[in-house]
Amino acid sequence: MTRKGMIIVLSGFSGAGKGTIMKNLLKAHPGQYHLSISATTRQKRQGEEDGREYFFKTREEFDQMIADNQLLEYATFNGNSYGTPRSYVEQLVNEGKDVILEIEIQGALQVKKLYPEALLLFVMPPSADALKERLVGRGTETPDVIAQRLAISSKESQYMNGYDYLVINDQIENSVEQVHAIISCEHFKTARN
Ligand code: 5GP
Repeated sequence: MTRKGMIIVLSGFSGAGKGTIMKNLLKAHPGQYHLSISATTRQKRQGEEDGREYFFKTREEFDQMIADNQLLEYATFNGNSYGTPRSYVEQLVNEGKDVILEIEIQGALQVKKLYPEALLLFVMPPSADALKERLVGRGTETPDVIAQRLAISSKESQYMNGYDYLVINDQIENSVEQVHAIISCEHFKTARN
């Protein structure tokens, strides 16, 4: 059975744990999933490296990527631009590999328009309190930024309808295996059709 590469989009509220799910998924199933690294105009956080978490770009560089049609999708989140470099994703999918995009909602919906067969997963925290605790506990953002991100989350919920699956991130190990199981089932369905 030849397996077709799949675009898997992982979205969810800032602090819902999608980054942790993704890292653990890559670790638990080595070689099976490939991660798309986004370009962003956001400032590098402590501990982040160019080319690992993101390709950090100036506004001019980012705009040039848009002009050159190098981005598969892009969006603004809390004043910064984020986008998915097109060539890497296309190359992996053509090679029959699964690629994960950890991106916000506007971008996710753009991907679904371009690739209706893309799998859109939405990660939710078990409760609103848990979300706030995680954002504060992460210690990477100021209280102002945390408040802004929480406000964005409440607006984002209305777009969940465009997604294929909802994952409630209560226990990280369970969420990782849920995501893996969903992807395996989708491959099975695609192969049958
Ligand atoms: P952060 O600043 O916390 O790294 O990311 C902020 C938001 O931008 C997160 O919801 C993250 O998933 C999203 N994001 C990261 N890369 C991309 C991208 O390439 N495109 C879009 N649309 N969103 C992205």
